[in-house]
Amino acid sequence: MPWVTRGLADGVVTTRYPARPDGYGSGFRAAVVVNGTLPAGRSDAVVGLCPTDAIRVAREVPVVDPDRCVLCGRCVEALPEVFSFSPALETAHRSRPLEANSDGPLASTRTALATRTRALRRSIYVRHVDAGSDGSEEWEVAALTGPIYDVQRLGVYFTASPRHADLLLVTGAGSVAMAEPLRRTYDAMPAPKVVVAVGTDAATGGPLRASYAGTVGVTELIPVDVVVPGSPPSPFSILHGILLAVGLLDPASTSARVRP
Ligand code: SF4
Repeated sequence: MPWVTRGLADGVVTTRYPARPDGYGSGFRAAVVVNGTLPAGRSDAVVGLCPTDAIRVAREVPVVDPDRCVLCGRCVEALPEVFSFSPALETAHRSRPLEANSDGPLASTRTALATRTRALRRSIYVRHVDAGSDGSEEWEVAALTGPIYDVQRLGVYFTASPRHADLLLVTGAGSVAMAEPLRRTYDAMPAPKVVVAVGTDAATGGPLRASYAGTVGVTELIPVDVVVPGSPPSPFSILHGILLAVGLLDPASTSARVRP
């Protein structure tokens, strides 16, 4: 029984996130950050560089739209003094701007969700829909139920039925063929419900943006509450998005992570 000795030797591999930060995730590409301005007279240095038009420049200061960035690294390779990868894994953000530093409509949905789950003494149930993904996000979503991330320890379970689900997790660009099934799944879920769009494709359509097969992301198809950018985002980032959506993170620590 070599698995017994191997298990004993490995010890507990499950992350303690979000109770504690986890260094395991620091090797992931989580986001691109801008560290400075473009070299003088080189405001055209990023023209044609980004495959998804995620970079815009205002007075030689580049700004990266995380919802469009596919983390390809071309900008980091070409201009390492300006761009770099951030290992900060808590990249999820609410899909709408905040009002007076509150969660806005998401706050009331969370409260109603908490009331319902507490009354029935049950966990949060997640329905995952692949709305035209390239498959990369699915690997990361599947990892959530494995021994490293073990999302069940936080009272979060996946369900095959939208009628039992509190949270809709959507991957993929929202292909034309999946638009109606996605809408029907959303409509079949009982209110209150929250929607988390996972990946750059789901956020804005990604490289297939507005092609013959795709749309500009699932935000055009159903109301989205939280977006997890990245292509694909790591399981830590997806977990952050789920916990942010259902209010299982410290509100003080999440307020600063809202995209303006
Ligand atoms: S990493 Fe790639 S997709 Fe992201 S901003 Fe840079 S060039 Fe654009």
